Amino acid sequence: MLIETKKLTKTFGGLVAVNEVDFTIEKGKINAIIGPNGAGKSTFFNLLSGSYSPTSGRIFYKGKDITKLPPNKIARLGVARTFQTTNLFEQSTVLDNVIVGHRLRTESNLLDAVLRTKRFKREEEKCRDKAMEVLDFVGLTHVRDQLAGSITQEEKKRVAFALALATDPEIVFLDEPTAGINPGETEGLADLMEKMVEQQITVCLIEHKMKMIMALADKIMVLNYGEKIAEGTAEEIMNNQAVIEAYLGG
Ligand code: ADP
Ligand code: MG
Repeated sequence: MLIETKKLTKTFGGLVAVNEVDFTIEKGKINAIIGPNGAGKSTFFNLLSGSYSPTSGRIFYKGKDITKLPPNKIARLGVARTFQTTNLFEQSTVLDNVIVGHRLRTESNLLDAVLRTKRFKREEEKCRDKAMEVLDFVGLTHVRDQLAGSITQEEKKRVAFALALATDPEIVFLDEPTAGINPGETEGLADLMEKMVEQQITVCLIEHKMKMIMALADKIMVLNYGEKIAEGTAEEIMNNQAVIEAYLGG
């Protein structure tokens, strides 16, 4: 078990967006969170990555309490994430986007940067090598030198993966990684997630595409109105009465 939440809760005014959720993320597996729109899925991710601080409850990473850690500290522990929409610098190349994204996340000394010291240049080279490596991993070497504004939607999704992977994470949170792309492209991204798991990277994703999730995820949690209504394998989820009602009952 890599991450564990205990009665994790987030309220916005009177709205309970995440309600006392107990959840465990299994190491080296594909963990999925599904649920209708507004169920609290993105909020749950924001809590786990430190973007939101919980109203109550606890979050543990490898047994360590990280409930009150800020996002940069959590990131440094090996937790990376993508967002529902990725903003790229459209006028920069794909490679530069990954290099810059990586640099923004790694702690760099401003004075080193201004003076362009040896250390800074060394670091810059390392970032470049890393960016090339992750672009190769996600299958984007052929568009590396193209402007980010000119690549396809599916390629932009892969860039988002590359940005997350550049930090050498132990776990990656993916918020609807395949939204807005076609079934063939979706399958390609599913393959990429499986490749990540083969590299010992734990995956936790939010997804709307039921068919894909059922085929891909080792473990699924279903949220509805902020509450966990089911958890288990695809087969267990598909036969769960509460889940069927949440999706069909409206
Ligand atoms: P999902 O990702 O499952 O679609 P969200 O986590 O985005 O759901 O939202 C869950 C609920 O919390 C929604 O009712 C949403 O309007 C509300 N919510 C999310 N973020 C905020 C926020 N920053 N301020 C106020 N309400 C929010
Ligand atoms: Mg969402």
